[in-house]
Amino acid sequence: MLQKVKFDPKQLDDYQLIVGDEVIAEIKALAKPLEGARVVHVNATAFGGGVAEMLYTLAPLMNDVGIETEWQVIQGADEFYTVTKICHNGLQGMVVPFTDEMKDIWRRYNEMNAQYFEGDYDFVVIHDPQPAAMLHYTEGKGGDHWAWRCHIDTSHPNPAYWDFFAPYINAYEAGIFTMEQYVGPGVSFEHLAIIPPRIDPLSPKNVPIAMERARDIVKRFGIDVDRPLITQVSRFDPWKDPLGVIDAYRIVKEQMPEVQLALVGSMASDDPEGWSYLDKTIRHAGEDFNIHILHNFHGVGALEVDAFQTVSDVVIQKSTREGFGLVVTEALWKGVPVVGGNVGGIPLQILDGETGFLVDTVEECAEKTLYLLQHPNERAQMGNAGREHVRQHFLSPHHLADYLRLFNQMRGA
Ligand code: UDP
Repeated sequence: MLQKVKFDPKQLDDYQLIVGDEVIAEIKALAKPLEGARVVHVNATAFGGGVAEMLYTLAPLMNDVGIETEWQVIQGADEFYTVTKICHNGLQGMVVPFTDEMKDIWRRYNEMNAQYFEGDYDFVVIHDPQPAAMLHYTEGKGGDHWAWRCHIDTSHPNPAYWDFFAPYINAYEAGIFTMEQYVGPGVSFEHLAIIPPRIDPLSPKNVPIAMERARDIVKRFGIDVDRPLITQVSRFDPWKDPLGVIDAYRIVKEQMPEVQLALVGSMASDDPEGWSYLDKTIRHAGEDFNIHILHNFHGVGALEVDAFQTVSDVVIQKSTREGFGLVVTEALWKGVPVVGGNVGGIPLQILDGETGFLVDTVEECAEKTLYLLQHPNERAQMGNAGREHVRQHFLSPHHLADYLRLFNQMRGA
């Protein structure tokens, strides 16, 4: 049995004041021909990770506009998740072997889940590689239109993985990718949709909190809120380059000794890679007590992330590789300019010189960060522009609109 995920209802009208009447009216018009349609989202987890977070908003909003939407999670055991984690890396280009045993495990769990897949839907949206063979093994039973939603960057996959996955993926009527260049080599779809992820402006992480309250929260972590603060919120992962952020901070500090750095990252207890990279980051920071390295074991949850993003003078996201970078969206939404790596989905969000700065090196990162710290008026202007950019393009109602557009296309409307 796949697990049916329960989610709380949400109302599209609650977003009206934020995104404006036109967007809401457009969504209602897009939803009209789809009224009564039945949709199911299928993915691998109900908790943790951006996909689950987005589905908790997208699924209830679809329901609210008259589409009967469900969410089901496939079932698996450790051996399956071990394989799918490696597949995730391989599909993003990592050089790692793909054995026949791994392939068998992946097929076996997909076949089993396909056998237990129940319901009769107009649209089935399969998220990510873990359940990608659901269409193959159900032979399309249970759904009229099938879409595969890829949340990872498959632009340069390891061929051993891609050659194996491509036929399963190619079978879908529609492919949904974050960016055009993420579509892997040699696959094509009747309908290709480019849909970036979005943030929910009403979620606890993104709802505005009063500056005074945010300052109080941040103070609890030893930050002096009367001195400049730069922050990066990220997993402790080499691609997020926390060591480079520390190096950039040190250059800034030469000109502005009072500056402080917060590196905020959530840790999963079963992620040994994350812990060892955290150790490395702490060693790199050394005895500098103006570098604050914090994670969820310090009690940093959604509210605290919100507070750090709200209070920071500049947010950094110095990734050297990035899918989309929801943390950039979140910071811009709080009116804080972001200095970010010129990779992945970051340039969609940071309009260079308008909502922040795109950088390629530590030195550039330091230079732009210092510039923003020393120019409060421009900082405020860019912060406003960033918030407006997100308001127009990167909020949950836009996400809903994109899906409705795709469903209409698939129905030939
Ligand atoms: N995040 C969090 N606490 C942390 C670090 C990250 O809640 O300490 C959240 C962050 O707010 C964002 C998500 O994790 O919503 C990370 O998404 P992103 O696309 O930036 O990067 P990913 O980790 O998916 O590569």
